[in-house]
Amino acid sequence: MKRQQELFTGKAKTVYATDDADKLIIHFRNDTSAFDGEKVEQLERKGMVNNRFNAFIMKKLQAAGIPTHFESLFGDDESVVKRLDMIPLECVVRNIAAGSIVRRLGVQDGMDLIPPTFEFFLKNDALHDPMINEYHIRTFKWATEAEVAQMKALTFKVNEVLTKLFADAGMLLVDYKLEFGRYRGEIVLGDEFSPDGCRLWDAETRKKLDKDRFRQGLGGVVEAYEEVAHRLGVELA
Ligand code: C5P
Repeated sequence: MKRQQELFTGKAKTVYATDDADKLIIHFRNDTSAFDGEKVEQLERKGMVNNRFNAFIMKKLQAAGIPTHFESLFGDDESVVKRLDMIPLECVVRNIAAGSIVRRLGVQDGMDLIPPTFEFFLKNDALHDPMINEYHIRTFKWATEAEVAQMKALTFKVNEVLTKLFADAGMLLVDYKLEFGRYRGEIVLGDEFSPDGCRLWDAETRKKLDKDRFRQGLGGVVEAYEEVAHRLGVELA
């Protein structure tokens, strides 16, 4: 596998073409951003930690029957993935109220959400990723009804697998964001799963172990990510 030209630069990852038309290489950079890219910092080791962490989680999800784009690690901070036709939506499941739902709905921060709730957001930085509903998805043809059903089902299946995985390691999976794409007629999980895109709290103390440490200037960001990795048994470089 050879890395070729750069195809896309996101806020924390760069995507490269490869000599295989069906495969891409994702580079997890140390850049860490929040508030639609308004706050950006370089955090030493973060790219490697997130790359290894994402590989570990994607393999667990695949073992549970969830199709993902992950193929293999490609060095410390890069991975080979299937080339998907990405759907411009973010799927969020929340088990505990935190972040934007608290601001939008005025609900108590930290309350258990029973049953867990689901939200769609449009991936659009200029519009600050607005929350949308299934009628918008239908009208603007961002995805078909079958794809919407599949994304919801897969996002909740991820919740079953990961709430247990994190609970067994003494953590609460508060919420997370997933992105999907199309691959040979199938809906497949793309993007990444790392502490950059979820909220994780220590189950006892509720200490934040995710990107909220960066957003809220709490410090110890990568140290927290490494602690999560260590508790799960993720091998780091
Ligand atoms: O900000 P909000 O509370 O809506 O975020 C819900 C979850 O989705 C959080 O875990 C957050 O890290 C993640 N998220 C993300 N990328 C975004 C928006 C939210 O990873 N653009």
